[in-house]
Amino acid sequence: MPDTVALIVAAGRGERAPGAIPKQYRTLAGKPVLRWPIEAFLSHPKVDAVQAVIHRDDRDLYQAATAGLVLNAPVLGGTTRAESVRRGLEALDGSPPRHVLIHDGARPLVSARLIDRVAGALDHADAAAPMVPVTDTLRRRTETGYEIVPRDDLLRAQTPQGFRYEKIADAHRRFVGQPATDDIALAERANLTIAAVAGEETNIKLTTADDFIAAEKLALSSLLDVRTGTGFDAHRFGPGDHVWLCGVKVPHGSALVGHSDADVGLHALTDAILGALGAADIGAHFPPSDERWRGAPSHLFLDHAAQLVRKQGGLISHVDVTLICERPKVAPHREAMRARIADILQINADRVSVKATTSDGLGFTGRSEGIAAQAVATIRLPA
Ligand code: MG
Repeated sequence: MPDTVALIVAAGRGERAPGAIPKQYRTLAGKPVLRWPIEAFLSHPKVDAVQAVIHRDDRDLYQAATAGLVLNAPVLGGTTRAESVRRGLEALDGSPPRHVLIHDGARPLVSARLIDRVAGALDHADAAAPMVPVTDTLRRRTETGYEIVPRDDLLRAQTPQGFRYEKIADAHRRFVGQPATDDIALAERANLTIAAVAGEETNIKLTTADDFIAAEKLALSSLLDVRTGTGFDAHRFGPGDHVWLCGVKVPHGSALVGHSDADVGLHALTDAILGALGAADIGAHFPPSDERWRGAPSHLFLDHAAQLVRKQGGLISHVDVTLICERPKVAPHREAMRARIADILQINADRVSVKATTSDGLGFTGRSEGIAAQAVATIRLPA
């Protein structure tokens, strides 16, 4: 039986422009918003499992946002927040935890210390919530103007809100269908003992465009160790009718010869990322002597390097690939290559550059004996 489970509620639609992706899945400092709190809880020593509640239309977005993480299967939420939480709690019923920490998926920057405080307060209370004082002057609009509202006893409630599981599950069953802005409101209705712990101003709930800007700055401020790596690769031409370049199949009068698909662009880029990590080279991770990699698509290699960065809590800030060849022409495929690399690295395409040059007829590329590529990768790691 798990001791503490984090229940992350991300089923809301919010208000947004048609076609825009929900805010939980937008990118914040290189990764989806929802991935931030999920990783924070997964890596916390007091948390045994993470259960997300998502919207039924977001299943693909959720799978992409949580790739590589070990999580309970997501639960589909309801039409209200309370209903979504109740469904999440019910999903835990088969193996009920002692404590549950209920968190808004739109609060990406929850800290380990805050999780500690909330979880710790459950030793002496049924429920616990982080609170922050109101520091701005509050005013209420009236018919004649704006009157000051005394703020001395006002607090803003944040999440995670922690509970003894059986008690909050029971409250959700008893008050089903009744409106509640958060789970502490239900705990109050059920006469549970509630402890307040200090919240954090950095525990922003993403609502406005300004919130995203502030959160992006805060998120990047934890990634101060900036590193650069370079990579180089070359493959010779042989018989064939296409080449793989930067993950894109390009028709050509010959193919590139290699143990894998001989994608020089992705090989150089993989080495650049490994270089930035100080993690040896592509040959060390994927030995040519290993039959598993015969004919392998090179996106596997690049994905591996990107995963190593993510495992360290890092961010791929920018990559720049230069392809060196007389033929084929790269320009018609450039945008497809950028998009493909961005897709493999799980970063935005504006962080990816693909360039091409000839060697002015000089050397092996000039004689069209093969294609060379060089790459630079810039990554940011937690300081
Ligand atoms: Mg190679």
